[in-house]
Amino acid sequence: MTSLNVLQQLNIFKDQFGREKRKLRISVTDRCNFKCVYCMPEHPKWMAKHQLLSFEELYQFCDFMVQRGIEHIRITGGEPLMRQGVVHFIAQLQSLKKKGLKKVSMTTNGHYLKQYVKGLKQAGLDDINISLDSLDQDQFFQLTQRQIEPVLQGIHAAKEAGLKIKINTVLIKNLNENQIIPLVRWSIQHNVQLRFIEYMPLDGDGQWSHADVVSEQEILAILSQFFVVNEDIQQGSNPARQYFIQQHPIGIISTISHSFCKQCNRLRLNAQGEFFNCLFAKNGLNIKSDIQQLVTHPKKAQHRLDAQLGHYIWHKERGYHAIQTKPITSNRKISMYQIGG
Ligand code: SAM
Ligand code: SF4
Repeated sequence: MTSLNVLQQLNIFKDQFGREKRKLRISVTDRCNFKCVYCMPEHPKWMAKHQLLSFEELYQFCDFMVQRGIEHIRITGGEPLMRQGVVHFIAQLQSLKKKGLKKVSMTTNGHYLKQYVKGLKQAGLDDINISLDSLDQDQFFQLTQRQIEPVLQGIHAAKEAGLKIKINTVLIKNLNENQIIPLVRWSIQHNVQLRFIEYMPLDGDGQWSHADVVSEQEILAILSQFFVVNEDIQQGSNPARQYFIQQHPIGIISTISHSFCKQCNRLRLNAQGEFFNCLFAKNGLNIKSDIQQLVTHPKKAQHRLDAQLGHYIWHKERGYHAIQTKPITSNRKISMYQIGG
């Protein structure tokens, strides 16, 4: 019996480098009301709504995946709060907690958060990541094509409602690196966790260049001009390396300069049923019809999914740097808004 077969018997998806898969990110829509420079193309071509998996289908898939070892599901997009029914979906997912699911999270741009916050809390959402790339009104608009005010109100409302929040900030050279210090001060003042994210080559129009990345080293150099920065050495499967400033946690996700791929335990599904074993995977796996059959012919669909996913996940590449150095084998245009960050 091959080691792949043994693992399938244990019902936990694992890859060839021994990384067990515990986290699933589900993009429920590719649509978004923002146009972040580092994510959305100038002219996005949205997925047709009738091609999206229904929430019932997504629920059945989550049920299947929880029984294969998934402990944490993150709902993302596009902008997840733009898809009607998402709050109900989060409430439904709670029933998987008796099967091994430990946490349901969401990543949002925060624009509609104020109106949804109570519903999300009641639905049992465990925590929420909110993107905030600048505290400067004009710069925020330049980055997103939207106003900052609703986002700040959303953050405030989420805190008031007692939701656990983290703020995500993507940094781009000569654009918003001047926000590092203001955002750290703001996060300490408001007692919210902040994570800086290195700009990745996942922008909609393929304009990314290495020179645009503000690296972890550069972020630390700027921080240490103003603060004493202590490192927490236990990263585990957390993508962010953790630092402390005045005992306040600051994370840095440095996929480009210092990737966390070695411990990666994540899998991803996009809104129309394409499955990815890595954010940077050159090829996805279209499992839409099998997911749909989980509702109509569960046994047959589970059998097919076990075989297809087991094989695809097993062959997950070592990581970002390994993929970059491979010869080009597909023209997959990888954009963050389509797969979900
Ligand atoms: N619309 C929601 C939001 O913005 O939070 C959820 C989807 S968004 C694709 C998820 C995360 O990906 C956000 O934190 C966003 O900042 C991040 N992201 C998007 N494009 C990125 C890029 N090129 N490099 C690094 N992070 C990126
Ligand atoms: Fe929309 Fe999020 Fe992409 Fe910004 S990062 S364009 S908010 S999907």
